[in-house]
Amino acid sequence: MPGYKLPCRYCGKVIPPQSNVCPICGKANPIFLRCPRCKDLIEKGWVNCPSCGLSLKVTCPKCKAETFFGDYCEKCGSPLTIVCPNPKCRFEQPPIGDKCVKCGKPLYPPQNNQQNSQQNPQQGSTKQ
Ligand SMILES: [Zn+2]
Ligand SMILES: [Zn+2]
Ligand SMILES: [Zn+2]
Ligand SMILES: [Zn+2]
Repeated sequence: MPGYKLPCRYCGKVIPPQSNVCPICGKANPIFLRCPRCKDLIEKGWVNCPSCGLSLKVTCPKCKAETFFGDYCEKCGSPLTIVCPNPKCRFEQPPIGDKCVKCGKPLYPPQNNQQNSQQNPQQGSTKQ
């Protein structure tokens, strides 16, 4: 029926069901969650997208907490997107892979000033 509206998942106001962005609070995908990769419908609590198999657990680029791969971090509320470090690209995208979906450059370039924490595979049992 015409005028049938659904509540926004974020602000709770009723909005047109086909909204891609809530006209009230401005958040993305206010009614239905969609897979960040294939855009198929997903539900909170799922661990994988049923269509493309994408893992729906993601590390928030902002607070580094593990969160459901919706549009926003469950912990800090930040949008779960990162910006391509390539200055000619700067494309904002969900952190699906380790390469930019637009230019193909690595999204997480190795940083030289990071500590080289070498993992010692010491599995040998030290018997006395
Ligand atoms: Zn809203
Ligand atoms: Zn998918
Ligand atoms: Zn976060
Ligand atoms: Zn890029």
